[in-house]
Amino acid sequence: MTEPMATHFKYIILGGGVAAGYAAKEFFNSGIKSGELAIISKESVAPYERPALSKAYLFPEGAPRLPGFHTCVGSGGERLVPEWYAENGIELILNTEIVKADLTRKTLENFGVEGANAKGIYYLREIDDADTLFEGVRDKVGGKAVVVGGGYIGLELAASLIINKLDVTIVYPEPWCMPRLFTAEIADFYERYYQNKGIKIIKGTVAAGFESDASGHVNLVKLKDGRELSADIVVVGVGARPLINLFKGQVDEERGGIKVDSYFRTSVPAVYAVGDVATFPLPVYNDKRRVEHVDHARKSAIQAVQHIKASEEGESIAEYYYLPYFYSRSFDLSWQFYGDNVGDLVVFGQRDPLVPKAKFGAYWIKDGRVMGAFLESGTPEENKAIAKVAKLRPEVESREALAASGLDFAINV
Ligand code: FAD
Ligand code: NDP
Repeated sequence: MTEPMATHFKYIILGGGVAAGYAAKEFFNSGIKSGELAIISKESVAPYERPALSKAYLFPEGAPRLPGFHTCVGSGGERLVPEWYAENGIELILNTEIVKADLTRKTLENFGVEGANAKGIYYLREIDDADTLFEGVRDKVGGKAVVVGGGYIGLELAASLIINKLDVTIVYPEPWCMPRLFTAEIADFYERYYQNKGIKIIKGTVAAGFESDASGHVNLVKLKDGRELSADIVVVGVGARPLINLFKGQVDEERGGIKVDSYFRTSVPAVYAVGDVATFPLPVYNDKRRVEHVDHARKSAIQAVQHIKASEEGESIAEYYYLPYFYSRSFDLSWQFYGDNVGDLVVFGQRDPLVPKAKFGAYWIKDGRVMGAFLESGTPEENKAIAKVAKLRPEVESREALAASGLDFAINV
């Protein structure tokens, strides 16, 4: 245990993830002075582009490693290596978990606590988890892997594991994968693609327990429906919960996150919340959302810092504009989604995963307008076109005409 800190900074970023890296860059752009900003993180490394961890990081060969993917390379910006923070007088306080926050007095206390994982059962959130998983996978090549969860982690990790020559089974409770975004038609393509790669899929049940061998290493996954799967490795991807307990009772919450306005101000003066933990207004859909995706982490961090600096000058900035944008990559697949997945679905293109370079997409239509657009295997120009269509929400003549024109509809908007 280390002593509580007694250091003062004008600005403190709690957490050293994606949002922290982009916020630091924006503070730097605004001309902050040396010694004014600190980032406190329980991780041991400077902020990095977290999406890398579930993708190429686990490849058996040629896998990227830090410092290759520190923020802000993910959006085409400068790579902020640890030396950058030092050179610019930004204090990086690493390996430090904040365990108490007093938002009124604006003090934070820390001591190191070590997390414990059962042997052979892996979760993936931070780079240390990815390193442990990488080692575990290397030790079990040829063995059996069970992936629990059919969301982002489940699908991306199942692909990485089979590329590492493990025998992979995914288990999830819903009738199809990625049910919060995918419809049955969309999921069908990915499930058949995965099965064709040799991945087994068990739907409609959950992992109810694990058994271990004499050395304490997992060897069996017990499913709720009574089935049992032998396993050398288990990867769990059953959703993320925002870490907001530190602030319970001190800050207003909404929909499971910290309630913020369009500038990411919380209910406590001079305290901002950005990225995964923030529930923010989304006027474009007359809604409030909490978004667990990297594009929003980057943009919300920039918005908050711009607001902080503008208010210091007595100026104002525009409200946060955000067009929901999600993506994923696995094997040779790569999809993007923009907008809102509400209303009826119109699908187009080649949805047979056995056809080489199959390419398909979908539009969500509500009240006669396109609300959301999805595209698998789009070129950068085509992805821009579906982003534009989701942003402009054009009227649709008929679903049949839209299905017939397919991607051309977005390109010609
Ligand atoms: P994080 O990046 O999670 O950063 C939070 C930081 O706070 C961490 O450094 C953590 O250690 C630190 N912290 C937490 N509590 C404390 C404490 N008490 N004291 C000190 N430090 C603390 N999104 C996409 O859009 N596309 C993708 O392909 C994609 N891939 C992903 C792959 C993985 C494996 C994961 C886990 C997420 C992925 N995401 C992806 C989601 C995306 O990474 C997150 O939305 C984004 O990282 C959120 O940024 P953030 O700064 O809010 O949180
Ligand atoms: P997701 O919410 O995407 O998926 C979790 C899935 O697991 C859900 O479908 C959930 O079902 C299911 N599930 C829940 N409990 C069980 C159980 N006991 N057994 C089997 N399945 C279960 O979360 P992930 O864990 O995949 O991802 C964690 C975080 O990382 C998220 O914030 C995600 O956005 C982010 N991430 C994003 C990526 C991207 O954008 N490309 C890539 C990797 C991670 P139900 O919905 O019914 O609860």
